[in-house]
Amino acid sequence: MASQLDCGYGRMAVVRGLSFSLAESEVVALLGANGAGKTTTLLTLAGVLPALGGRLEVLGTTVQGRRPHLLARRGLALVPQDRGLFGELSARQNLELIPGPRSRRSGALAQVLDEFPSISDFLDRKVGTLSGGQQQILALARALALAPRLLLVDELSLGLGPQLVERMLRTIRERATTAHMGVLLVEQHAAQALGVADRALVLRHGELVLEARTADLRSRPELLESAYLGPSGQPPGIQPPARGEGER
Ligand code: ATP
Repeated sequence: MASQLDCGYGRMAVVRGLSFSLAESEVVALLGANGAGKTTTLLTLAGVLPALGGRLEVLGTTVQGRRPHLLARRGLALVPQDRGLFGELSARQNLELIPGPRSRRSGALAQVLDEFPSISDFLDRKVGTLSGGQQQILALARALALAPRLLLVDELSLGLGPQLVERMLRTIRERATTAHMGVLLVEQHAAQALGVADRALVLRHGELVLEARTADLRSRPELLESAYLGPSGQPPGIQPPARGEGER
């Protein structure tokens, strides 16, 4: 999927030399501390940001420049951090913005209501009046309604209770398995994502510092800890105290 990929803004690369692949039906967690480059990577994979270097192939096509619409047409769905919903429209209208014939829309709507029955409680309410959790469910449901071949999700857990996050992650996992959908889950808090992921990638300061199967991380949790903390043993951004500091 990505080979020696550089991602960033303008001409400034904040993610450098990233190489990884993602198979169909596979769920991969992209982890790392604040500012590690997770969202930047995701937006580049979705064609929202242009790749600054290296090679990127998504759903059988080489991606050059900004190409979000072309990738969407090939089956990529993105749940961005801001959810990307239309606040002035109802939940139903947001779900009905699926391209294609009416029969496809009603089939997709029936499936998401089956997967997320709580949506029927707020189907005809304006999205702007919904709670954060309701909006999050809706954003994920809308992405799944597109029946994507590749789903990219940014910080599903942001501001939500653990039970809701777990339910949404379980639904993603089931879809990945039954519909052969590949999934890249960006998460700052690793534990829940690792509960459903097959593999994990950890970014630190824009570089891939760990790629491991989740089964291996369960038996060797210290691998994850040292990938987050780095050689200094300190979280990124916190410098180890200078020699002599605190010795007065
Ligand atoms: P978080 O978990 O806090 O969302 P992240 O791992 O997703 O962090 P990114 O949002 O990808 O990190 O940010 C990576 C780096 O890119 C950071 O140093 C950030 O300041 C920088 N950055 C993010 N957005 C922009 C932008 N629009 N222009 C310039 N630099 C940016």
